[in-house]
Amino acid sequence: MAEMDRTTGRTFTRGATRFAPSPTGELHLGNARTALFNYLLARRAGERFVLRVEDTDAGRSRAEYTTGLLADLAWLGLEWDAGPGREDELGPYFQSQRGALYAQRFAELERQGVAYPCFCTPLELEAARHAQRASGRAPRYPGTCRELSAGERERRRTAGVPATLRFRVPSGRRIEFTDLVHGAQSFLSDDIGDFVIRRADGSAAFFFSNAVDDAAMGVSQLLRGEDHLTNTPRQLLILEALGLPAPCYGHIALILGPDGAPLSKRHGAASVRQFRDRGYRPEALVNYLFRLGHSSPEHDLLGIEALAAAFDVHHLGRSPAHFDEQQLRVWQKAAVQRLSVHETCTWLAAQLPAGLDPAAAQAFSAAVLPNVVLPEDARPWAQIIFGPPPILDAEGEQIVRAAGGAFFAAAARAATINGADLAAITAAARAASGAKGAQLYRPLRFALTGLGHGPELAPLLQAIPPGQIEQRLARFAHAPEAGVSPTTSKQ
Ligand code: GLU
Repeated sequence: MAEMDRTTGRTFTRGATRFAPSPTGELHLGNARTALFNYLLARRAGERFVLRVEDTDAGRSRAEYTTGLLADLAWLGLEWDAGPGREDELGPYFQSQRGALYAQRFAELERQGVAYPCFCTPLELEAARHAQRASGRAPRYPGTCRELSAGERERRRTAGVPATLRFRVPSGRRIEFTDLVHGAQSFLSDDIGDFVIRRADGSAAFFFSNAVDDAAMGVSQLLRGEDHLTNTPRQLLILEALGLPAPCYGHIALILGPDGAPLSKRHGAASVRQFRDRGYRPEALVNYLFRLGHSSPEHDLLGIEALAAAFDVHHLGRSPAHFDEQQLRVWQKAAVQRLSVHETCTWLAAQLPAGLDPAAAQAFSAAVLPNVVLPEDARPWAQIIFGPPPILDAEGEQIVRAAGGAFFAAAARAATINGADLAAITAAARAASGAKGAQLYRPLRFALTGLGHGPELAPLLQAIPPGQIEQRLARFAHAPEAGVSPTTSKQ
């Protein structure tokens, strides 16, 4: 049944997907991809996309990371339907504010006898694990506190012995589910061992709060990192014990760096913020991440709605994806070529001289855009265009000298009369020298930019400040005497 969201006005079916980041660092590319896939899954299914902040680790969670995370998601275009700033009756969306709900669930499980207090000290637990390993068994909780009498529990509690709360895993069960990515999964409960759902400090284990919150928030399907696959049987047991519905889980493969290790800071930029700061476009990142571990017949740069229509969980790969910045640059190039002149000016603003008038900024941006992937690529061109007349290298000098003084005298005159009109300049130079094709354009390019390559000349001329075209051409109007470089002579 469809329903309308009061804040966004969107129509949804009842289900939801979610993204549950921990604000303990900048939004990593891997997490951004998880967010994107959940967003697309929601859009594709007409479900809600919920953002829930997993800020339960008070020691590591920081408000500025939350702020950054929200800003990065919004920048990527992954607007959440419910979450921070979009509260509704299913919130709050910060897990640090949901303690009362978890307490209620802990009490419920204890009442049923499905959870029990465990008074084992970390040292005792370590000793048990050690002994199990030594005898060739997989380490798991030996069940020391499982059958303590009510009186004994009370006695220890009253004595102030710290306790965790453990979930009593039923024996002899097979826990089965169908993973959205990996297909049929089967785990034996006897391999799991009673696990801690509430730490000694009273805080909930993250997989407990996530399971409970997914049910409370109507999450019907979700994608998350493969490292959580083994949490799933435990979460299914918790939900079953509480009589809560379980979502369909999908576990996506890791992203590896070029050296095969999980993508991290060691590989250079690894957070969305770092790519953003370098001038990467959100459309480029989103299109690249869409293809990272997700095969698609779509080869064009797509908007977010088109990506949602093309997203298919069956196309998610089971093996790790390899991050390749060259591929990201291909998408970046495509995204950049689609920018409007106004957007280009904003994007390149930091590269332009302070106080440059808007028309000049626009002319410059339009001229260099085809040659730019990142804003830093425009910096040398800003120097060439707005700096002093460029100095030529030996090749440039030779080409300019071969064109001759008459060539440049005519070109400079045409620039004085017609301004930044490449056709008039080349016509005049041709008439004066008989040069054609490359012999015509290369000397002009060298004289104007100091280089033999670069953006198209006609738009570039529009960006050169008034008077500069003429001045740059005129300095070669007199054939230099042998041994005297025109670039070192007075300008
Ligand atoms: N905060 C966890 C993570 O980012 C989320 C776990 C989950 O999705 O259940 O890995």
